[in-house]
Amino acid sequence: MKETLVRLTSSLIQMESTTPERINYSVEFCADWLQRHGVPIRLWENQGLKMLTATIGPTNTGSTLVLNGHLDVVPGHPENFIPRVEAGRLHGRGSYDMLGAVAAMMALTADLVQQPPKCRIILQLVPDEEKGGELGSAYLVEQGSIGDFVICGEPTNLDIAVQAKGVLQVKVEFSGVAAHGSRPWLGKNAIVAAMQKYNQLATLDFMQESSRFFPVPSFNLAKIEGGVALNQVPDRCALYLDIRYLPTQNPADILDSIRLAVPEAQVEMLRHGSPVTTDEFDPFVQSLHQSTAHIFGKESVLFGQDGSADTRFFAQYGIPAVEFGPIGANHHGPDEYVEIESLVIYQKILKHFINQLEGKVNRHEIKK
Ligand SMILES: [Zn+2]
Repeated sequence: MKETLVRLTSSLIQMESTTPERINYSVEFCADWLQRHGVPIRLWENQGLKMLTATIGPTNTGSTLVLNGHLDVVPGHPENFIPRVEAGRLHGRGSYDMLGAVAAMMALTADLVQQPPKCRIILQLVPDEEKGGELGSAYLVEQGSIGDFVICGEPTNLDIAVQAKGVLQVKVEFSGVAAHGSRPWLGKNAIVAAMQKYNQLATLDFMQESSRFFPVPSFNLAKIEGGVALNQVPDRCALYLDIRYLPTQNPADILDSIRLAVPEAQVEMLRHGSPVTTDEFDPFVQSLHQSTAHIFGKESVLFGQDGSADTRFFAQYGIPAVEFGPIGANHHGPDEYVEIESLVIYQKILKHFINQLEGKVNRHEIKK
């Protein structure tokens, strides 16, 4: 089991899946690997990006569990794509986020073909989580590839992320009056106007709230655009804000409060991503929690993620979704690694969890 996981994860690291071409190659590699292990797969393509699903188990009884993994990784130096095993750790770009989890999900699926479960399992391997997931997981959900419960194998150190903040990216554009830089009193400086309002925006009432799992929302001034020439009063300045709001907050209310605070500015929403609000007492979550305690010998912590993942596309339809993955460190940074033993444990936990699902009937029909 361990050798298979190390070999498979290493192969995926070597794919260097940071471009559409490399990602598609990685999807084909996984398709081939699964087919060679007797797993029937379906290849999908959306706007030039490939992805795959594999469905096993009965179609009309029991629950459907979605195992979702992304094959794309963030860029790194060439040496990051040479896998290296040292002191029980597998180092390499994507080992922790989340090629190790993908390998465990693939190995488990191959295993389940030999011993079919009583519930249905859909394995989804997607190409673009790091870029927002719109072409991969969002597309599959739209196409009806959903279930009663979803596990995204994001790096969580065997803890369970039941909630995630929502994403609200906003452009706030201030206007001024251009004039010659030697006579600024004749103009109105838009950059100065934006600077004067920034603190007010960053400390609006919604920023003072908290919720279960989250002490605060977050507010990041990500980009500023303004000014053309050194001898000119700028007549335009745009602030680009990346706000991560609490699952209990309403993005429309947040936008309203921004508009109210700066009525002189143009406020435009650039991107929105729903929060994830999976109930910590959901029976699937509780069952996964028990399987982890049983196999790992330690209670996992239920927590909220500050960032967003593909879970949100399922959560949008009220499907309970969690992030749950192996132990490691330094994802998106130098010297990323995954603990090899945790990959073995991870695969065993998933298997135990699936065995617990056997015989359970569908709690409800999922309506889109
Ligand atoms: Zn990830």
